[in-house]
Amino acid sequence: MFSKILIANRGEIAVRVIRACREMGISTVAVYSEADRDALHVSLADECYCIGPARAKDSYLNMSAVLSAAAASGAQAIHPGYGLLSENAEFARLCEQCGITFIGPSPEVLFRMGDKDEAKRTMKAASVPVIPGSGLVENPEEAKRTAAEIGYPLLIKARAGGGGRGIRLIQKEEEFDRAFSQASEEAASAFGDGGMYLEKYMTGVKHVEMQVLCDTFGNIICLGERDCSMQRKNQKILEESPSPAVSGSQREKLSQLCERAMRAVGYTGAGTVEFLMDRDGRFYFMEMNTRLQVEHPVTEMVTGIDLVKWQIRVAAGLPLDFTAEEASLRGHAIECRINAENPKENFRPGCGKVTLLHIPGGPSVRFDTALYPDYSVPPFYDSMIGKLIVHAKTREEAIRKMQAALCELVIEGVDHNGEFLLELLQEDAFQSGRYTTSYLAERGSL
Ligand code: ADP
Ligand code: ADP
Ligand code: MG
Repeated sequence: MFSKILIANRGEIAVRVIRACREMGISTVAVYSEADRDALHVSLADECYCIGPARAKDSYLNMSAVLSAAAASGAQAIHPGYGLLSENAEFARLCEQCGITFIGPSPEVLFRMGDKDEAKRTMKAASVPVIPGSGLVENPEEAKRTAAEIGYPLLIKARAGGGGRGIRLIQKEEEFDRAFSQASEEAASAFGDGGMYLEKYMTGVKHVEMQVLCDTFGNIICLGERDCSMQRKNQKILEESPSPAVSGSQREKLSQLCERAMRAVGYTGAGTVEFLMDRDGRFYFMEMNTRLQVEHPVTEMVTGIDLVKWQIRVAAGLPLDFTAEEASLRGHAIECRINAENPKENFRPGCGKVTLLHIPGGPSVRFDTALYPDYSVPPFYDSMIGKLIVHAKTREEAIRKMQAALCELVIEGVDHNGEFLLELLQEDAFQSGRYTTSYLAERGSL
């Protein structure tokens, strides 16, 4: 086992990884930007290194700065968290060259699945149904010709996209020229890659994703699905496991599909295979996230499996020591993403000093955050400031528990979406479990 791990991330996920390391007796190294001197992950880690100015590009995404900190500290492995360098094949390759273990799949797998177009082709070859669409399209003219075959409405998607960005909906041909160049330019500046592909726009669908965990001995375990259909602008805001729309036999089928796909890819570590599920209960592969997911805690709550510890163990060459049956889903878990934003002002992101903080508690209530009283939320990073997760025997009980916990949550000094989430939980669409990915748009809350 490793004796020292560097965490190449910030915020709640850095704190989450530090906690797992501490429980495992592993020393931790934090890296931080100049804007994060007072961040919680810095004070919780055993050692810390400043790696540059506030902007992520100049610090958390600066590969040589992160690797220098790893070398200086003598860390044997790097946990990348999510976002930032977590799906960067070049970074994983550099770690390898420096003799440091990247906690995640191999650079080859990161490269293949990180390209969303290539990932779809790989899945298709493994007989996994994929969302109908095209391969890469070079220019608006080629895109239009291909679009005529796929039919409207459709989506233009960035092959390097993530976090709901680089996606455009096209209702009719006239919208093409403008949307194509806009999306491609946006992707080029956000992801350094303007490559685009087209996909049939599916309506009335649910976002259902399967959590997988694979060791280096060929053991593959599927840990059930998460329903992430509650989205705003293609970004998840609430997740639950199990999905209220997936039956036991569908889960079984999805697990078999994912197991076959992971074997074909040669996957190792924790990963998530994302699908859209249509009204007839058919699944279509959308993309794979080759890292820990924001919403991983709901799976941890229903399976009792600590995903971060297993990522570390698998990276250290240990085999999975439990079976899929032992990790079968118990009860129901829900996560709400608490974002620093103002729902009343078009969800404008906020920042500022936390003047009062009360974190909800009680049995099976979990709050993953990097907030503390008097902490100032900096304006430079993602707006997610916490994740409230609850677990109960039934979905109804979990909903009530979430409502009670949200009522109890107090964060003063920073705008957040707590009340908005509370309203959402009361709505029939959510309570029935039948909500789809376009629910919030149709309800008029974009
Ligand atoms: P999840 O599926 O885990 O919920 P998200 O799509 O919400 O993942 O992304 C998690 C985090 O990573 C967010 O902070 C998001 O902004 C960031 N992120 C995801 N993909 C990328 C990417 N390709 N480039 C930059 N940031 C990304
Ligand atoms: P990201 O890499 O940003 O997570 P995804 O490809 O996973 O991008 O898509 C994000 C969200 O956009 C999905 O969860 C879904 O709600 C919506 N979406 C993506 N592709 C389609 C599609 N072909 N039809 C309808 N909705 C889609
Ligand atoms: Mg996705």
